[in-house]
Amino acid sequence: MELYRGKNGTLEARVPKNFPFEISYREGLGRCLFATREIRPEETVLTDSAILLGPSNPDVCIVCCSERDRRKCRLCDFYVCSWCIDSHSDEECSVLVKVGYTRDMYNVVLPVRFALLQVRDNDMFTWLLQYMDHNEERNRKNKSLRRSTERMALIVSSSVQGISIDLALQIIGILFTNCFEFSSQTIRARALYPLVSLINHSCIPNLRHTNLIKEMRGVNLNGEIVVMELETQRTVMPGTQLTIRYNHYTQGNLQRQKFLSEQWFFRCHCQRCEDPTEFGTNTSGLPCNHCSGIILPTSDQGWVCNQCGETESIDKVQLMEEKLLNLAETKPCPFNITTSLQQLHNLSKILHTNHFILMDLKEKFLFGFSMNLRKVRDLSLDQKRKLVPLWSAQEKYCRQLLSYHEILDPGKSPLKTKLLLELRKILLIQSKVLSEENKDKDELVRKLNEVKGLNQMVYTQVSL
Ligand SMILES: [Zn+2]
Ligand SMILES: [Zn+2]
Ligand SMILES: [Zn+2]
Ligand SMILES: [Zn+2]
Repeated sequence: MELYRGKNGTLEARVPKNFPFEISYREGLGRCLFATREIRPEETVLTDSAILLGPSNPDVCIVCCSERDRRKCRLCDFYVCSWCIDSHSDEECSVLVKVGYTRDMYNVVLPVRFALLQVRDNDMFTWLLQYMDHNEERNRKNKSLRRSTERMALIVSSSVQGISIDLALQIIGILFTNCFEFSSQTIRARALYPLVSLINHSCIPNLRHTNLIKEMRGVNLNGEIVVMELETQRTVMPGTQLTIRYNHYTQGNLQRQKFLSEQWFFRCHCQRCEDPTEFGTNTSGLPCNHCSGIILPTSDQGWVCNQCGETESIDKVQLMEEKLLNLAETKPCPFNITTSLQQLHNLSKILHTNHFILMDLKEKFLFGFSMNLRKVRDLSLDQKRKLVPLWSAQEKYCRQLLSYHEILDPGKSPLKTKLLLELRKILLIQSKVLSEENKDKDELVRKLNEVKGLNQMVYTQVSL
């Protein structure tokens, strides 16, 4: 991304011509990214490097954000591992000396880095200050967070020259709103990406984002950098706004709206949220108290039954959802295949097949009772016969989960690969039993043919 001064002196950003998108300003949306040409599924649209990276945990090195060793800088007393001691800048160190080390001061490192940009890269600093901080809404909603933010702002402004308390508050708000958590096996960080921060949310986005650590070997840079890679989930037509997901797609309507309004202070009106059936899945639908229909998230005011038209208040729906979640989370006693299947059966009588509570339970059942092929081989035919209902249920759930996830999260995903592998394994087990029984030859051929097809699919999904 390149920053330049526009005609009236305002700071603008542009991306290289060969990028498949441009940064554009739209009324009501602010700056966002729009496709400039057709983008095919699974195309890498952008690899955005973190402009600011800071620890999200008190126990990691403040430079690389990993817990390699527990060395501290002799001067500022903050954690800086042996690998990073040379890249720990004097400028930052002298500010951190003023901050003074305490265990929770890792929180101040990222705002300090942002503040230091003012001198190091003033254009980037000015550009980042245009991002939303949502301070007003956050202060209104969360009094204790407001107090701790004010304390933090005071520390930043008294330690970094030229940063007023108001500016420090704005910086902290921008970081709250725009940072992404980055957590790998070793790294615990929060990162700010200049371009990714411009991408709006949708519950059915066209981009999938992945955090990555890239090895860089170059003249000026040696080592690892944190990047976010964005890949298209489906075909994107020119002029379409690029979107990512801020939440998890297996949440129901109420959970999604709650999360988005608490974290980002907006109500989502994406295609999925505007469709009460959520693309025909009815994944948020709850049983109607008056008839056998399901009540769906029809409007902000209330939910409506798809059969009798009776409306239900959001508060009541919320209570009902909580009750059902508790019911699903209570493990049957004794906990085994039979009682778990019974629990699923009972819930499926009151919830839609695709309800998110039920889908989650099916996934847990599928992988929780997943069987090892070698173990199955050692069982007697009688023992295998007893397990036939388990494998039939698993086969059914696998298929339901695959189509459910394909609707709500189109394109390749690690979960779908895992489900395909599981389905392949279950079909192999079933084929083995069928061939031993020597009864249903047609069924055996059908299953083996499907396994052959799945091999192809799985191998194109898993990178070998
Ligand atoms: Zn380090
Ligand atoms: Zn230091
Ligand atoms: Zn939405
Ligand atoms: Zn009804």
